[in-house]
Amino acid sequence: MEDIVVLSPVSSLKGVGNVIAERLQNRGVHTVYDLFYLTPRSYQDRRKFIPIRDLRPGETALIKGTILELRKVRPRYRDILEMLIGDERGIISARWMGAPRYLFRFRKGEKIILFGQFRMAAKRLETYHPEIIEVGHEWEIGRLTPVYPEIDGISQRRVRRIVMDAVDRFAHGLKDPLPAKIREARGLPELGQAIREVHLPCQSRPEDLRIRRSPAQRRLIFDEFFVLQLALALERSKAARERGISLEVQALKGLYWSLPFRLTGSQTRVLQEILRDMRKPLPMNRLLQGDVGSGKTVVALIAAWVAVRNGYQVAFMAPTQLLAEQHYLSTLELARRMNLKPALLTSGMGPDADDVRDRVNHGDIDILIGTHALIQESVRFHRLGLVIIDEQHRFGVLQRGRLRQKGISPHVLSMTATPIPRTLGLTLYGDLDISVIDELPPGRKPIQTRLFHERDRSKVYAILREEIGMGRQAYMVYPLIEESEKIEIKDATHMAEELRSVFSDRTIALIHGRMPLDQREGIMGAFKERAIDILVSTTVIEVGIDIPNATIMVIENAERFGLSQIHQLRGRVGRGVHPSKCLLLASYRKTNEAGRRLRIIEKTTDGFRIAEEDLAIRGPGEFLGVRQSGFCQFRTANLMRDARILSEAREEAFSLVDTHPRLAHSTYNLLRRMFRESS
Ligand code: ADP
Ligand code: MG
Repeated sequence: MEDIVVLSPVSSLKGVGNVIAERLQNRGVHTVYDLFYLTPRSYQDRRKFIPIRDLRPGETALIKGTILELRKVRPRYRDILEMLIGDERGIISARWMGAPRYLFRFRKGEKIILFGQFRMAAKRLETYHPEIIEVGHEWEIGRLTPVYPEIDGISQRRVRRIVMDAVDRFAHGLKDPLPAKIREARGLPELGQAIREVHLPCQSRPEDLRIRRSPAQRRLIFDEFFVLQLALALERSKAARERGISLEVQALKGLYWSLPFRLTGSQTRVLQEILRDMRKPLPMNRLLQGDVGSGKTVVALIAAWVAVRNGYQVAFMAPTQLLAEQHYLSTLELARRMNLKPALLTSGMGPDADDVRDRVNHGDIDILIGTHALIQESVRFHRLGLVIIDEQHRFGVLQRGRLRQKGISPHVLSMTATPIPRTLGLTLYGDLDISVIDELPPGRKPIQTRLFHERDRSKVYAILREEIGMGRQAYMVYPLIEESEKIEIKDATHMAEELRSVFSDRTIALIHGRMPLDQREGIMGAFKERAIDILVSTTVIEVGIDIPNATIMVIENAERFGLSQIHQLRGRVGRGVHPSKCLLLASYRKTNEAGRRLRIIEKTTDGFRIAEEDLAIRGPGEFLGVRQSGFCQFRTANLMRDARILSEAREEAFSLVDTHPRLAHSTYNLLRRMFRESS
């Protein structure tokens, strides 16, 4: 019974009407269960009243007293309402800027309870905008009071009230989905008890709560990781029971001859790992990691070639339409050399799309390139044998499961240029085998990166001029700001104009994502032919472009990019025999932190170090760019802080699935259910 209640919508709670429910939903809180895991950011100590005389400057405390004076004061221009409040032994001043109306109903002589931070002023301790605890609201005091994450349009007090009601009604006697054995082994309290204790602490020690290590907090953090790890473990166990396609691998020698270069040792090694998987009658589920420019594409295409020679088709998926188009353009040549028939399918294609679908369906296309929509709807492959997913980290993990739900078990090769720090790797790819390309193709020159300030723009132009003077070409990049593509294009357009006047003797072209594919193709072609000196672009060129003669890149507003993104971008240069440069232009208004970040990228070309720094600075959601996919959006857990708990949860989840591969026993009904609901 209770489990049903817990999974019911927040709108079923007292005091949660449509408006509030919607605001909660905007924050990702849909069910009562979600609400339980919306854990406090911090706690205020409101356990007892502090006599005014014992207050220390800087202290945040609960006090009570009598209103001795109530008046408006006007230092300078603003209205301030001041209340003098006294108890037997002392007086403090409470002040509100702008004299809010709700204060005017208080009268001299009334009793009042305040919670605020006190600081030393000229005559006495004062506090600005303290919280007033009204008569009838005693539930807000006498305890460690939770402070919840901000939710747009709902006051702290309201959130407290809602959560408290939910806890009062449902936490008691809640069925616990976590097997008792695990709970005991890890020293975790029962679910209902943990929820009560997190939201209305009475046994927890404030110092534990502060660092989120009270047993109750650990329990809820554990849960979030556990559910995710369980999903991964089940996924893996399902895959191990599945029948895959065993492919034959022969005559790669001939294929190697058709390539324009020799594979590096690293490429050969990971290729062997991949091919070994593809021979097995189990579906491959492998992640190929390699820094930008390390040559993942050719490895993937050789795997594709093997699948095609065995009579299967390949789906090649990129996270966005634009990236899919670029992939298509940049793989055309290699694919042709390898005798593979590629096609592009994106939602922007109009009626041509039907034709492509038909040909895929009839088996006339070997490799279909597109977004992940490829496996979701409408496309019916003749015989799909291999799925290649580029920039895997931008997809949610569980999407891989969709393939199987469609009743096919192709081999899956995921690729990422973002080296994933270990903790994240476990979280996101816990069910994957991993291969790493740790070597760049020969002849790459390290890229010299330098940070410039806006006021040094002319120096940047001077370097640019010199480089172009030597016959090289340049990229000039504008940051992608989500939701503001228009502004960005405007900026880039504007910049192209400016450059045309600064470099009036040079050819300058602009390229951006709103241009039709053939137009972009034309510009890229011209750049490749050296008919263009400076290519101004939005972040369109993030991947897939390969022009050895382009040796300098200027990144405008560099402070707006993530480190890993800059690292990827600059991988566009340094591809030929000439030494290359990447110049970062930071705007006037960059913060210190942004400056610190940019120095890191100046100093190191190690993608792994950069990724770790990035992760530490921006947090996993931003870092991975996975906000939309719903991953890494833990409510209470934090990958960095809680790495220990993550590995505990992981051990338990995988060992549980080892012994109960399908969680079939009725003990796990609730667990299965939870897992379904949250995935
Ligand atoms: P990424 O790993 O970033 O996807 P790509 O697959 O786009 O890298 O490869 C980057 C460039 O390096 C491409 O132009 C590709 O043709 C080239 N390349 C790949 N492997 C080798 C190699 N072994 N020797 C020389 N060039 C290579
Ligand atoms: Mg690539």
